[in-house]
Amino acid sequence: MDYHRILTDIQADVLPLINKGKVADYIPQLAKVDPSRFGIHLHMLDGQSFAVGHSEEQFSIQSISKVLMLCMAVGKLGQKVYRRVDVEPSGDPFNSLVQLEYEQGIPRNPFINAGALVITDMLMDAFDHPKQDFLDFVRAISGHSDIQCNPEVALSEKRCGFKNAAIVNLMKSFGNIRNDVEQVLDLYYDFCSVEMSCRQLAHAFCLIANHGRGIADDRKYLTESQFKRITAIMMTCGFYDEAGEFAFRVGLPGKSGVGGGIVALLPQKFSIAVWSPGLNAKGNSLAGMKALEIFTTKTEWSVF
Ligand code: GLN
Repeated sequence: MDYHRILTDIQADVLPLINKGKVADYIPQLAKVDPSRFGIHLHMLDGQSFAVGHSEEQFSIQSISKVLMLCMAVGKLGQKVYRRVDVEPSGDPFNSLVQLEYEQGIPRNPFINAGALVITDMLMDAFDHPKQDFLDFVRAISGHSDIQCNPEVALSEKRCGFKNAAIVNLMKSFGNIRNDVEQVLDLYYDFCSVEMSCRQLAHAFCLIANHGRGIADDRKYLTESQFKRITAIMMTCGFYDEAGEFAFRVGLPGKSGVGGGIVALLPQKFSIAVWSPGLNAKGNSLAGMKALEIFTTKTEWSVF
């Protein structure tokens, strides 16, 4: 199969969608991103890789970091992580508060904001320097030492993060946050502000595609059971209230972020990252979702 040709065709096919989405502007710093950016990087576990567009340009990975945070937490703490966060799809927007009160401060899953805030709280207890340790982890699994947080994006989000503050306070009232709420929020915003390119993301997510083994250092970070469970949560919860739609149209485990990035993978075969900043109404990249739908249709690669 001519993968480069497939990616080039996809880029042409989604062109009409690229300016139709809406760049996330609730974080003012993200509103400055050029909506016409578009990139794809496909990394196959046999070593081949293919790319089109702005695949080398770093962007704000936002909620994609939630998967990497979970990998780090599970790798260190094991399955007890799931005592404080559930693994059910929420069917609600990523920053929703409604289920939290009914469910006594236990978030539906680690890939909505509430769940990632609880994971942040766990990482604060489990690591001496969680921000630096997170960056070291992401650099080690991807093999890219130039991955950084963007302090301007983190500060911009902190200044208007009223919903996240409400979520973390509500969970604190139920006893599911142990640390100071301001410190949990600050660290969560640092994690969300990490910047990576499609190429770097595709390399990092080989960790999942490769059953828990990093591509850069060949180290086994996750056991088979840990890998299987994280992949299952990506499949069922990676796209908030559009997780069913992504499974239906694309058929791969994946994760999106409001920076317009999406990563998806087929275990033992490949990982792929797409970036297009314009979002649909559910906060997922409009052209990115379409690109992956065309990709799995043309290649006939999916978990099904
Ligand atoms: N940092 C963003 C927030 O907390 C992440 C949301 C996202 O990417 N869906 O709102």
